[in-house]
Amino acid sequence: MKLVRYRHGERVFPGLLDGERVHRIDTTALGGAEDDLLAIVRAWDDGGSAVVRTIEPTLPLEEVSLEAPFPNVARNIFCVGKNYLEHADEFAGSGYDASGGGASATPDHPIVFTKPASSVIGPDQQIDPHPDLTSSVDYEAELAVVIGRGGRKISADAAWEHVWGYTLVNDITARDLQQRHRQWFLGKSLDTFCPMGPWAVSADEVEATGLDIESRVNGELRQQANTRDLIFDIPTLISTISAGITLQPGDIIATGTPAGVGIGFDPPRFLAPGDEVSVSATGLGTLTNRVAPA
Ligand code: MG
Repeated sequence: MKLVRYRHGERVFPGLLDGERVHRIDTTALGGAEDDLLAIVRAWDDGGSAVVRTIEPTLPLEEVSLEAPFPNVARNIFCVGKNYLEHADEFAGSGYDASGGGASATPDHPIVFTKPASSVIGPDQQIDPHPDLTSSVDYEAELAVVIGRGGRKISADAAWEHVWGYTLVNDITARDLQQRHRQWFLGKSLDTFCPMGPWAVSADEVEATGLDIESRVNGELRQQANTRDLIFDIPTLISTISAGITLQPGDIIATGTPAGVGIGFDPPRFLAPGDEVSVSATGLGTLTNRVAPA
């Protein structure tokens, strides 16, 4: 099941994407706000897909604009750094990695950081390049896990039962801020630095352990990988984070980016005003955003 938040006229609604058509969903019985997809995710564990009640109207996809599926998560988005081997190598060799690690680029344990919900934007919304703050805005295509069932001390064996589904995230990063401040939060948290979408897919429709993922800048292929190459797989990430932090339905975990980001090139190829950057994965659609013109 593909869920969207869509704008039609002045208002935003939750919807069920069915091919090229969007059916409006009624969430009032779930106690959520009118446009709240999180209410569906939170209710899913009790009711399954039956919690999705479609109502009129049904609209052609081309007549609506899609918004971020989860712009209002209850807390920061969990993110994972250096979780593909080739990317860990390119980052370690770029001169921008102030996180240490010594001779080995591969972390011994997952590197977990967060981005605030305030950085989330939807498909086709503009990335602010913050030219007064940074001159090294980079892209990172990532598969993001949406937690459906909360819990603490979730074992890796039980982790899949806690996954509601997936969406895409572009973990936009100001490399100079990431390096200068040593801790990654500032450089990854600027307003508009978390494009998300274009939709959210329930876990039954996605083979998350073998997903092709890619990014393009102005149509040029930059990143291309498969999620089977994650250093720390999704169950390991869930068990690591939940070891001492109670995961909640609607929490989002961005699983890390593969090689081919801007700092992987020599010289680096950062995003420039006017550039179009897109992130795609099998079954998860294409998330496209443009960097605001100068
Ligand atoms: Mg990232």
